[in-house]
Amino acid sequence: MPEYKAPLRDMQFVLQEVFDCETHYRKLGFEDVDADTMNAIYEEAAKFVEEVVAPLNRIGDEQGCQWNDGEVTTPDGFKEAYEQYKEAGWPTLAQSEAFGGQGLPHSLQQPISEMISAANHSWSMYPGLSHGAMATLEAHGTDAQKARFLPALVEGRWTGTMCLTEPHCGTDLGLLRTKAEVNDDGSYRLNGSKIFISAGDHDLAENIVHIVLARIPGSPAGTKGISLFIVPKVNVSEEGALEERNGVHCASIEHKMGIKGSATCVLNFDDARGYLVGEVNRGLNCMFTFMNSARLGVALEGVAASEAAFQGSLTYARERLQMRALSGAKNPDGAADPIIVHPDVRRMLLTQKAFAEGGRAMSADLSLLIDTTHKSQDADERARAEAKLALLTPIAKAFLTETGMESTSHGVQVYGGHGFISEWGMEQLMRDTKISCLYEGTTGIQALDLLARKVLGSQGELLKGFMQEMGSFLGQCNADEQLAPRAAVIGQYLEELQSLTATIGKLAAANPEEIGAASVDYLMFAGYVTLGYYWLRMMATAQEKLAGGSGDTDFYTAKLQTGAFYFDRVLPRAKSHSACIQNGGDSMMAIAAEHFAF
Ligand SMILES: Cc1cc2nc3c(=O)[nH]c(=O)nc-3n(C[C@H](O)[C@H](O)[C@H](O)COP(=O)(O)OP(=O)(O)OC[C@H]3O[C@@H](n4cnc5c(N)ncnc54)[C@H](O)[C@@H]3O)c2cc1C
Repeated sequence: MPEYKAPLRDMQFVLQEVFDCETHYRKLGFEDVDADTMNAIYEEAAKFVEEVVAPLNRIGDEQGCQWNDGEVTTPDGFKEAYEQYKEAGWPTLAQSEAFGGQGLPHSLQQPISEMISAANHSWSMYPGLSHGAMATLEAHGTDAQKARFLPALVEGRWTGTMCLTEPHCGTDLGLLRTKAEVNDDGSYRLNGSKIFISAGDHDLAENIVHIVLARIPGSPAGTKGISLFIVPKVNVSEEGALEERNGVHCASIEHKMGIKGSATCVLNFDDARGYLVGEVNRGLNCMFTFMNSARLGVALEGVAASEAAFQGSLTYARERLQMRALSGAKNPDGAADPIIVHPDVRRMLLTQKAFAEGGRAMSADLSLLIDTTHKSQDADERARAEAKLALLTPIAKAFLTETGMESTSHGVQVYGGHGFISEWGMEQLMRDTKISCLYEGTTGIQALDLLARKVLGSQGELLKGFMQEMGSFLGQCNADEQLAPRAAVIGQYLEELQSLTATIGKLAAANPEEIGAASVDYLMFAGYVTLGYYWLRMMATAQEKLAGGSGDTDFYTAKLQTGAFYFDRVLPRAKSHSACIQNGGDSMMAIAAEHFAF
């Protein structure tokens, strides 16, 4: 089982050096947050994650969760680790001071979430779901609801869930049937069944706050008739004290491919008491707060998977001796050379490294934008941040999880046959990561969101804004003889992105199926190019540091070398996506559904 080590140096590089987060924090009023404070927090977090959370990863997979008579038990050690997490105050870090939080920026929390996810995806689900629940309540709850539910969530005494999916509807939430009828006192009683609810029941916390989508009788059909409710597992008095058990129960848990230590629950609501959040029939709009935050959280799972796979592969590739290097022995005293000398093993390692570090930079930039949307006093700046987040959220969610999945597959491959054997941990990582491409909207759904809603739906406005940002950075690189050729490559891909967008727009005017036919290739094209932009930003910083003689030469040189690999050996994949898009959707749609098999 590979040992997880938090990539602290790279986390500092991205936030502090590439994006100069200290200036960003000062601008937003976080005067006390400086590099020293951040580094101290990350060192503590790394210690907790490496020593407490990571060792439970294997146990979680082997034991899974247990369901007995309606009660869910998590694997050995999960509860104790959560207790330590809560006692150390980790849940409070980036939460609002008004509810007991420490009021630190969202972006500061993000590396810690990455560490937890990389070390133990299953365990990360329990604190992870609470973040979205808190964000939804803060954005849409009444003052009384916030006072009643937020302090215990912030403290970590209670956890949260998001309850959307029902047996007959996952992607198409307009079909949902869970019913909410108003009580005399203004609360609601909910009846229905939800499936696949992560952290829907467990033994880590004394209460669970479910954020539930349901339909009030008489509401319009489809997505326009959905409202949002808070439904606590244990009822809560107005002062926040626990009362009697509510009518929501876990009917069973799923037996699944991965993240076995995360309880995936069927929840039955039988006259469960709930409280409306936001306006009637505006539930999906409110839930978008949860979903957007959760989508970026899942994007980070992709980065974490690439990092974990890279770390495991690197350790093995340095130790495993097989064959000699093509250019002659590199370990003449040994029986053979370590497999890291072989170009194909290097291809896999560098692909994982490029996805992990590039994805970390993309995610960090998005987390800083979230800070801006929360805290900036400048409405234009907030609007620009929101526009960029809207465009990049589906790209980050789908591209970083697909590449995370690819990284874990390379992880198995680097280990050879041993990668297929459980004790090495790589097959678990691959099984655990697949879910990130599915929940919070599948890759296909993210791609439709990007192309149909964000790009074509805004008549290209959202794309234009980000293109301008990238264009202006490329302009700065032109003055540097090493960066200029890389900037020119990105510039060409951006022109291609524009022309692909126009082509799809034209084809779709005649045949709307063309949007669906192009969407995943379009998202992957945009993903490779966007990651190229973030790699260029990292390369520019690394080069500046080297030129300034600031030390750490090996780190910055490796950064430039990994960037060069990305440009030479990964970015060109975008061309095949472009070719597929240009070939159109006819061959996809020609075959009749009944002729797929005979
Ligand atoms: C382990 C796990 C944890 C989960 N946690 C939660 C949770 O906490 N809360 C919660 O509410 N849900 C949760 N889910 C549910 C998850 O979000 C859904 O499974 C997911 O959104 C997909 O929905 P579905 O399974 O109904 O698939 P479907 O919607 O039936 O989709 C099946 C396939 O069809 C494709 N498809 C569907 N419609 C279109 C379209 N219009 N165009 C192109 N392709 C389309 C999809 O991309 C997919 O490939 C979880 C699921 C799992 C397995």
